Amino acid sequence: MDYDVIIIGAGPGGIYSAYELKKTCPGIRIAIFDSGQELKNRHCPIDGVKVRSCVKCKSCSIMSGFGGAGAFSDGKYNITNDFGGTLFEHIGKKEAIELMEYVDRINVENGGEGTRLYSTAGTQLKKICMQNKLKLLDASVRHLGTDINYIVLENLYSYLKDSVDFYFLTPVEKVEVTEGGYRVIYDGGEKSCSRCIISVGRSGSKWMESVCESLSIPAKSNRVDLGVRVELPAVIFSHLTDELYESKIVYRTEKFEDSVRTFCMNPHGIVVTENTNGIITVNGHSYESKDKQTENTNFALLVAKHFSEPFKDSNGYGESIARLSNMLGGGVIVQRFGDLIRGRRSNEKRIAEGMVTPTLNATPGDLSLVLPKRILDGIIEMICALDKIAPGTANDDTLLYGVEVKFYNMEVGVNEHLETSYPGLYIIGDGSGVTHSLSHASASGVYVARRIAGKWQET
Ligand SMILES: Cc1cc2nc3c(=O)[nH]c(=O)nc-3n(C[C@H](O)[C@H](O)[C@H](O)COP(=O)(O)OP(=O)(O)OC[C@H]3O[C@@H](n4cnc5c(N)ncnc54)[C@H](O)[C@@H]3O)c2cc1C
Repeated sequence: MDYDVIIIGAGPGGIYSAYELKKTCPGIRIAIFDSGQELKNRHCPIDGVKVRSCVKCKSCSIMSGFGGAGAFSDGKYNITNDFGGTLFEHIGKKEAIELMEYVDRINVENGGEGTRLYSTAGTQLKKICMQNKLKLLDASVRHLGTDINYIVLENLYSYLKDSVDFYFLTPVEKVEVTEGGYRVIYDGGEKSCSRCIISVGRSGSKWMESVCESLSIPAKSNRVDLGVRVELPAVIFSHLTDELYESKIVYRTEKFEDSVRTFCMNPHGIVVTENTNGIITVNGHSYESKDKQTENTNFALLVAKHFSEPFKDSNGYGESIARLSNMLGGGVIVQRFGDLIRGRRSNEKRIAEGMVTPTLNATPGDLSLVLPKRILDGIIEMICALDKIAPGTANDDTLLYGVEVKFYNMEVGVNEHLETSYPGLYIIGDGSGVTHSLSHASASGVYVARRIAGKWQET
């Protein structure tokens, strides 16, 4: 065998697997393959001046490379079983939390010291939310910020680079089962290993489907989250963000009894575009350092759409809606809340005259031409509900960017060890459909590494 372990994907899942394996089994031979670049070479060409929108690079620097989708993220590590994935269903609630806390300690030791850990424990805001038909979910959150998150990744890369073989810009094409292990095939070569960890995240979702198909690994998909990113003056949400940083609030709509939730809150942050398989959607992040902060706060409002038989392609549904916004707006569309309510598109002039200066250069348009009515109605109801706990949320000038889509990978058939029916073939992180966040993906990496380490030490 060329390696004891091959890890496919250098996102948080892959990085924390390698970190833990190196720590517990110093002599173990590990290779990591990633379609993207080494961290220092990851640059998105959008500069807002010469390149104003996505040019669809072969490998997206925002989503791929060392650090994975998390590299330029806000670095919010939520320690909770309430959201961010269902890792606890496989490994138990207690162990899931312990692993997330362990990952937090590693982040703190590797550059995150001095960052703050926020918590919902004992907050008065819970009561205020409840009084207004809103539910605040429990969590502790370490906010690294995009800048410190990058430093932590640099330090983890320094720790790994001399003892792990990295194959960057090397998308894996196939994984084959061999006698006693696996063959990992890529353009121009192949490597063998005794154990293989697949951690390809959301950007690898289509490839993951092909692996499941070729190896007959069961997989099911039935959910996509659709909505908008809200941007408003930071002062409107400051009583929530100062205390909790990120508040995950859920509202049940009166009209359809759908759940709408806040997601990925970025105080003083910026709105950014995201490219998933060539489709441009919206996201957001923020910096820890004061000089990079803006006067705005942004967060997503998402409605979960579950499908029942016979429809199976929930991601395809989300993609079609995102494509519609790409078709109408050439990318992301932005609309003032006041324009949406009055049934008219936004234009450059009305946005320029508004109180909120957009942090993303998006095309003014009409989101009602893109989002299904039921989803849009839910979002409008939620904005009005949030206005009661954060007056000003429903102001005319509040900006809505669309569409924000959270694609969920298919849930892959893995057991309580995150192992497939093939011994030694593990599927972890967002690529497994089990996790949807930095902390859960990282924790799944540590979990599997400990399992492999135990077996490796026995041999
Ligand atoms: C802009 C943005 C902001 C975010 N902010 C937050 C946040 O604040 N908090 C939070 O909890 N989550 C956040 N997320 C989500 C978070 O980044 C992911 O949940 C997390 O990165 C998942 O980790 P992962 O290792 O499973 O996958 P990923 O991070 O997606 O990494 C997968 C890696 O696999 C590689 N890959 C894919 N296919 C192949 C292949 N065939 N061969 C080789 N390599 C392959 C990719 O290039 C990628 O580098 C954010 C995401 C984005 C895009």
